[in-house]
Amino acid sequence: MSQPEVPIDVDPATGIWTTDGLPMIYVPRHYFVGVQTAMEDALGSEVYRQRAYAQGHKAAWEWCAAVSKVRNMRGLDVFNYYMQRVSQRGWGLFKPEDIDLDRGTGRIRLDNSVMALHLGKTGRTQCAMYAGWGPGGLEWAAQDMGKPVQLTAEETQCVSQGHAHCLFEIRKA
Ligand SMILES: [Zn+2]
Repeated sequence: MSQPEVPIDVDPATGIWTTDGLPMIYVPRHYFVGVQTAMEDALGSEVYRQRAYAQGHKAAWEWCAAVSKVRNMRGLDVFNYYMQRVSQRGWGLFKPEDIDLDRGTGRIRLDNSVMALHLGKTGRTQCAMYAGWGPGGLEWAAQDMGKPVQLTAEETQCVSQGHAHCLFEIRKA
């Protein structure tokens, strides 16, 4: 085992944690997945997936916008740093593949998704909450590079369906 690669600053007065200048929290996986499952039960699968996608997209965009200023980074470097950071924070190992902003295509391979690991084999894709992360981060990078594009993504295979890893396919919206 090894220690986290993400630096965490703790304000001793407030107890607030920050990384890359953003407030962060550290939660047990069973709690986080339990909240997702409860939301899906309450909203129904379709609405839950739409809302989870939208929130993930928004959060990725906002993270990239904030961290680009703090780290003085631009464009796709910010997106790649985002993929590195979410991987280092324990959400699973995210690996972008064949990203092409001009064509608006690419894939993100995800190993060890917390949703799939926790829920096990369910026979369906379980990682909807991650699906907006790639498009949100890539759309931010594209507009930062002066060539805005609208993207969407879908989880096309999931460990919960018995696949070896999860995969998100990105395309123009
Ligand atoms: Zn999955």
